[in-house]
Amino acid sequence: MTRITNHLPTAELQALDAAHHMHPFTHAAGLAQKGARVILRGEGCWLTDSEGHRILDGMAGLWCVNAGYGREELAQAAAAQMRELPFYNTFFQTTHVPAIALAAKLAELAPGNLNHVFFAGSGSEANDTNIRLVRQFWAAQGKPDKQVIISRRNAYHGSTMGGASLGGMAAMHAQGGLPIPGIVHVGQPHWWAEGGEMTPEAFGIARARELEAAIADLGEDRVAAFIAEPVQGAGGVIVPPASYWPEVQRICDAHDILLIADEVITGFGRTGNWFGSQTMGLRPDIMTIAKGLSSGYQPIGGSILSDRVAEVIGGIEFNHGYTYSGHPVAAAVALANLRILEDEDLPGRVGRITGPYLARAWAGLADHPLVGAAETCGLMGALQLTPDKAARARFAAPEGTAGLRARERCFANDLVMRHVGDRMIIAPPLVISEDEVDMLVARARTALDETLAGLRADGLMVAAV
Ligand SMILES: *Cc1c(COP(=O)(O)O)cnc(C)c1O
Repeated sequence: MTRITNHLPTAELQALDAAHHMHPFTHAAGLAQKGARVILRGEGCWLTDSEGHRILDGMAGLWCVNAGYGREELAQAAAAQMRELPFYNTFFQTTHVPAIALAAKLAELAPGNLNHVFFAGSGSEANDTNIRLVRQFWAAQGKPDKQVIISRRNAYHGSTMGGASLGGMAAMHAQGGLPIPGIVHVGQPHWWAEGGEMTPEAFGIARARELEAAIADLGEDRVAAFIAEPVQGAGGVIVPPASYWPEVQRICDAHDILLIADEVITGFGRTGNWFGSQTMGLRPDIMTIAKGLSSGYQPIGGSILSDRVAEVIGGIEFNHGYTYSGHPVAAAVALANLRILEDEDLPGRVGRITGPYLARAWAGLADHPLVGAAETCGLMGALQLTPDKAARARFAAPEGTAGLRARERCFANDLVMRHVGDRMIIAPPLVISEDEVDMLVARARTALDETLAGLRADGLMVAAV
């Protein structure tokens, strides 16, 4: 069997990496200085790097390895499909068994009348598809002005021109002339940072009503859709107040605005149900899926459409698609992955066992002097770092200073935890055991202690005025 082997020492790999490999979302010169960590292998929730460290992966890769690393069945599904039919397109009135089987399975798993799948290679591509889809949905019904898509500040919907425009990341909009026209952003339901004196419940309603105000401002007949993540992921695992989603759903219904639930992270068990929409009680018209769909073993994404949307789009020729839409190997692996999630009832396990277990263990970190809030939803978690928890204060130091230090201390303690500004976030594989949750939380606490000591030593436990 041919495989990529490595006999090089870490320093040489790092030098080659720095010389030739451009990393996403990375300051290349800065990384070259310290050298990238080289990951060699994965098993369950554990990674092994080129120095032999065993690292607990609190981020499931990039929110995607839901079934855990080292699943032999998925390797076999890929190999078998490559031998049978490694590629065929679905453009020209042809189809193949893996795409058919996966679409049918997704229609069965997705709630309500979400029964039709348009495949893409990633979450970003799927959201680009959604932009054209919802605009064409209204145009095909004689409403060509119903074009604007409303999204939220600090949302993440991908990195293509369309995906990044839908997203509300200021740092991304600052590069390359984004957002594209016809996309409007309203406030996010991030009570800790933006709720001021309001109760979380009142704030949730207020943020939902910003959507209604934007619709009134633009005119209902100019707004095509609202897109949102049921729980914001890359924005910092922001669990909305309970009042938020019911009000958003009411507003979308009242004004005939399509609701796109971006389930790229929240789908496939992450929140304790198959989809975050079920956890949050939403009835989306379209769902964006990717990541956990294949547990990251193959790049695949898609849009799941309701009967109503599919009927309209099916009545025209939709001039859109990707060479790898429904790629047979990716589809076969995704199907085998869904079988694992189903056979091991991983969504149910998160909902009944590991989610509540993490919630309790994680809440224990709220007593740490550096932690202003410890929140979870299923197997997503966030710690808000603060110099003064009573005041919900930000640091005087530039945003992300404390978070970056905390992430470095996590790495040093063989735990992958990510930072978004001064929020620390986790989303471990759904196969994580209770013992591993305890280990994760213990390592996080050690990292917090070390971070706090460093911040104090450098005079950085100071609130912004
Ligand atoms: C990761 C992500 C995307 C983009 O998916 P890619 O596969 O990286 O293109 C879109 N939406 C959400 C909510 C995501 O987390």
